[in-house]
Amino acid sequence: MSDVLAVADHRRGTVRDVSFEMVRAGHELADDLGGDLHLAVIAGDVEGFAADLSLEGVDTIHTVEAGEEFNHDLYAGATAALFEQLAPTAVLMPNSVNGLDYAPAVANRLDVPLVTDAVDLAYDDGLVATREMYGSKVETTLELSEEPFAVTVRAGEWEAVEDRVDVPVEAFEYDFDESASGARVQGFQEVGAGDVDIADAEFLVSIGRGIEEEENLELIEELAEVTGATMSSSRPIVDSGWLPKNRQVGQSGKQVTPDVYLAIGISGAVQHVAGMKGAETIIAINTDPNAPIFDIADYGIVGDLFDVVPALIEQFD
Ligand code: FAD
Repeated sequence: MSDVLAVADHRRGTVRDVSFEMVRAGHELADDLGGDLHLAVIAGDVEGFAADLSLEGVDTIHTVEAGEEFNHDLYAGATAALFEQLAPTAVLMPNSVNGLDYAPAVANRLDVPLVTDAVDLAYDDGLVATREMYGSKVETTLELSEEPFAVTVRAGEWEAVEDRVDVPVEAFEYDFDESASGARVQGFQEVGAGDVDIADAEFLVSIGRGIEEEENLELIEELAEVTGATMSSSRPIVDSGWLPKNRQVGQSGKQVTPDVYLAIGISGAVQHVAGMKGAETIIAINTDPNAPIFDIADYGIVGDLFDVVPALIEQFD
């Protein structure tokens, strides 16, 4: 009873990035506890997913073959059943749309406390979890003496584990009757124009209110084209209807972790930063030298975007 059980996340046949990050979070916590990390893969191509997730730090993968996609009753039931068999100290689930759907049900079934949206975890005679509140303005440390416990893990906070190793895979039999389930996935509809997933982009050129008018977006489109970047934005651009919702970075948009994030005319409000602070290199262009975006930028250009962007286009063209 010092093990950790983590439940992988997948959608439409692909393991989601947060699963690779949860392997690190789970492995570190299991190390603190002196136990093993068990990874559960539920529904879909479980053998393929298990192969993708045979990573350093994982001691055993448990596959639950049932249905193709996420199902609330399946995930809640299978996670709770696996937990009862393994009797770990902790169960980690993703703080994703799926995770937020079934994690409270798991905690309720097991009658264990649930910490949501954790950005850091440690164990010191009890769980020590870090959470962010008020749009990431305040960081709180939560100490939990009760065990076992359940946690949902925020995406983009742990470095993904990529090193592949052989991990034993065990099939876990869970009797699931989909026809008796109260909720079922009927299909997928992408938010906004579903052509691009900015969460997958390696280079994002992101535009904010500094662009002033919709017509001026052409300039940023040109920069994105010559640099091979994908265009994203802050929320006011989406609220104005200039770009679709699937391009919005931030607390109420998408969380992104590109290699390069070029923020143009974006002030760096906490709600925006919450979605992009995991970028490897952050570059900011802003007329205001005191703009908060410069606090987190690796490189900053204090200048007018209408001067700087044409110069960059000329340079890269
Ligand atoms: P502004 O804050 O207006 O900044 C514009 C910047 O452009 C300024 O720094 C200015 O100096 C600079 N500028 C102006 N002209 C030029 C120029 N010619 N050249 C260069 N720089 C120039 N916001 C998000 O982005 N994503 C979210 O998901 C999100 N979720 C939210 C959720 C909640 C519950 C709330 C309350 C707010 C949320 N917001 C979100 C809004 C957020 O608080 C900010 O209002 C928003 O991020 C500001 O966008 P901005 O930086 O584009 O605009």
